Amino acid sequence: MTSTSLEAAQFVVPTSRDEAVQAFGDGSGVTVFAGGTILMPEINYGRLRPAHVLMLGRAGLSGIGHKDGAVTIGAMTTVAELEDAPEPLGSAARNVADHEIRAQATLGGNLCAPSGGGTPRGDLQAALIALAATVRTAGKDGERTAPVEDFLAAGADGRLVLEVELHEPKRSGYAAARRPHAHAYTILAVCAAETSEGVRVGISGAGANALRARHVEDALAGGASAEDAAQKALDDAQPQDDALASAWYRQRLLPVLVRRALDDLGGGK
Ligand SMILES: Cc1cc2nc3c(=O)[nH]c(=O)nc-3n(C[C@H](O)[C@H](O)[C@H](O)COP(=O)(O)OP(=O)(O)OC[C@H]3O[C@@H](n4cnc5c(N)ncnc54)[C@H](O)[C@@H]3O)c2cc1C
Repeated sequence: MTSTSLEAAQFVVPTSRDEAVQAFGDGSGVTVFAGGTILMPEINYGRLRPAHVLMLGRAGLSGIGHKDGAVTIGAMTTVAELEDAPEPLGSAARNVADHEIRAQATLGGNLCAPSGGGTPRGDLQAALIALAATVRTAGKDGERTAPVEDFLAAGADGRLVLEVELHEPKRSGYAAARRPHAHAYTILAVCAAETSEGVRVGISGAGANALRARHVEDALAGGASAEDAAQKALDDAQPQDDALASAWYRQRLLPVLVRRALDDLGGGK
């Protein structure tokens, strides 16, 4: 592990997972730096002046592994490396920004992405919710594993994301609305997957973080048609106005996208 100082900031560069966990400690005062696609603009514009920076690039936290039917993805795996991941994660990854950003941006950064300028970030989150993924983190009480929706609800503060685990779904679906510009964020995206627990649905773009559409899932489990179940999405999400779209537009779009994602179940890529 190396440590250097620059303009009052201290940079720590762990060279293993254990060193990263040790250097993170309870996370107080530590700024975790992954791909930097969110952090670098904040630092360049002077909105963020980190004192202690944990650079994860050499910590050995990247890569996709397969074992006993489970897929394990390291936090430092880039979004580009996820373009062929199990659906709907692959579709979500291919829809993030452009090649340049995807080659730099990481899974961990996407899971911990704070909303920026009122605009939701974190398009991979909805796919991970649909896939019933779990997140392994380190922090004050040591390491723990939690369902991704619980991790998102609790917030990333004080936790270092190490890896995510998921299983290939039986079927998957994806539907999104984007602006026709490579650098634009997704306005709204819906991911669906049939897992061993039944059909799960994740929505991104309708809140600071992606959320699980439990009302939609319950309606489907109760035998509702895809069209009727999709209407329940408005009980799961209360979209807000932001720089990308109005709440009015998103409210009308959401049931349409949920219906499309459910229709797409089984469509693959
Ligand atoms: C032009 C542009 C377009 C974009 N378009 C999209 C888009 O379409 N969809 C989308 O989802 N995002 C988009 N983004 C946002 C961003 O690129 C992604 O969310 C990306 O995955 C963030 O990952 P990163 O590694 O670059 O994060 P970083 O900038 O390194 O970090 C982001 C945040 O996560 C924290 N963090 C990072 N890794 C960890 C970890 N392992 N444990 C704990 N905390 C961690 C950091 O401390 C920081 O708070 C865009 C960004 C830009 C600049």
